Amino acid sequence: MDVVERADGGDRPTTALGLAEEWRNAAYNCYSSGHKFCREVCPVYQVTRDETYLPTAFHANVVAMEQGLVDIEDVAQDYVSCTMCGGCELRCPNTLFVGDFYRFRTRTVDVVRAVRTLAVDRGVEEPTWAAWNAATDRNRHEPVVQDVSVEVSQAWAAQYDLPRSGSTVLFVDCEAALYRTSLPQSVVWLFDHVGEPLALQPQPWCCGGPAAEMGYADQARRFAEHNVDDWREAGARRIVVLDPHDYISFTEDYPRYFGHSFDFEIVLALDLVAQWIREGRLTPQRPIEARVTYHDPCRLNKRKGIWEAPREILRAIPGLDFVDEDRVTQWSYCSGGGGGLAIARPELTSQLSERRVERARALDVDTLVTACPWAERPLGEAGRRHEMPVIDLLELVALSCGAPVSVPGWLR
Ligand code: SF4
Repeated sequence: MDVVERADGGDRPTTALGLAEEWRNAAYNCYSSGHKFCREVCPVYQVTRDETYLPTAFHANVVAMEQGLVDIEDVAQDYVSCTMCGGCELRCPNTLFVGDFYRFRTRTVDVVRAVRTLAVDRGVEEPTWAAWNAATDRNRHEPVVQDVSVEVSQAWAAQYDLPRSGSTVLFVDCEAALYRTSLPQSVVWLFDHVGEPLALQPQPWCCGGPAAEMGYADQARRFAEHNVDDWREAGARRIVVLDPHDYISFTEDYPRYFGHSFDFEIVLALDLVAQWIREGRLTPQRPIEARVTYHDPCRLNKRKGIWEAPREILRAIPGLDFVDEDRVTQWSYCSGGGGGLAIARPELTSQLSERRVERARALDVDTLVTACPWAERPLGEAGRRHEMPVIDLLELVALSCGAPVSVPGWLR
């Protein structure tokens, strides 16, 4: 099999045939069953009605590669239209019926990533992604705003006298550090409020996850190496994460890159907040008079099975009228903010967020709560068209605990 050194030290294929060899079983699993149960759960298919962007097509292309019928140039563009939400993997009968017994799961997300990586390695690049990742490589954070640098990415923390070394370090990059700054400010305030020590990473770079998802494997590895070196430099043992995309990088990619030497505890800030509420260390007291529903971020609900802690927090906030939609129903919901879709196909992202806000409006709520900065921008834009504020769960609980944080679009 034609290979090059993979970011995790393994070999990654350099030819379509090599890729087909690696993903043969996964591809035939889907291709031979052909039931397409993934159709209606796939957010991209919901707005395009185009089966080119379905997991069945993504896997069938790999079978066609094995048979020498197509090469990467022929199909690479098809894989751009995927948010990597993971909904199809959960809804797939191959996962549902044999998953528990054989611990099997359809792996569309990994197949999409492998094809994107081969495309980049072969110079078949999506132009918007090439520019985006080059800018990220230059400025160390994604170009989510005009002025991007490591220094600017820490401006949100200027008002806090936080140490740059300690065993518990808060990781903040890209969208939360440069655009949705009320989110890290809320987290810092909550830590201080319960008396938990917290340090900031000295020189944070992007987690590398988006680059890896778009196929820029070597760049992703380089950024991971920098962050891990910086954590060691800071004496960190525990890394606190407020962005589900970072959580996926640190709990899936980094252990794959660094193996046993990756000995950091990775915790989600919202899990800590739920624990503090359970222990009585944090008590939301200020009533929030709002009728809300919660959007399960794809990378928490579908990719990680994390859906209970957010609901626990929402139910602890006084005054809140929480209209819940169960997590399984939400397998087909998506903001369109992930997998590079908002960069290459912003019109699809806008349609997906519009559909999500429409579903919230159908519940007769006045506010949409979620827990992902990458979802909050497109959902916020759709919400503004319908005067429905979109707020992060951690911002909401901080406000109810009395935090003096100003949240964009939140006037209560
Ligand atoms: S990961 Fe999500 S967007 Fe991609 S094919 Fe599966 S359901 Fe569709």
